[in-house]
Amino acid sequence: MKLENEKYCQECGEIINAKAEICPKCGVRQAAAGMTPDQQQNQNKWITTLLLCWFLGVFGVHRFYTGHTLIGVLQLITFGGCGIWTIIDLIVIALGNFKDAEGRPIKNN
Ligand SMILES: [Zn+2]
Repeated sequence: MKLENEKYCQECGEIINAKAEICPKCGVRQAAAGMTPDQQQNQNKWITTLLLCWFLGVFGVHRFYTGHTLIGVLQLITFGGCGIWTIIDLIVIALGNFKDAEGRPIKNN
């Protein structure tokens, strides 16, 4: 039986302390509660994209970062469509509707 302060190891399924960062049995590091490493990576990417757009959006840096190289160049030479394009991108990113060049959504989980 699993107690209140215990959880299952994400690797071997052994019951371990809920606060354990590393499973004593198999030695595998546990991801933060409720978030898979994939989700965490995606969230980091979302934050980075948002910050790049906020600070360097008029140079299309967030577009380069997410693989939209051609659009990035267009934004660079038009200063983000005089800033309007950048603001639209910023809103789309903030709402979690932005996608990278491979069509994967970039969003805060
Ligand atoms: Zn384990």
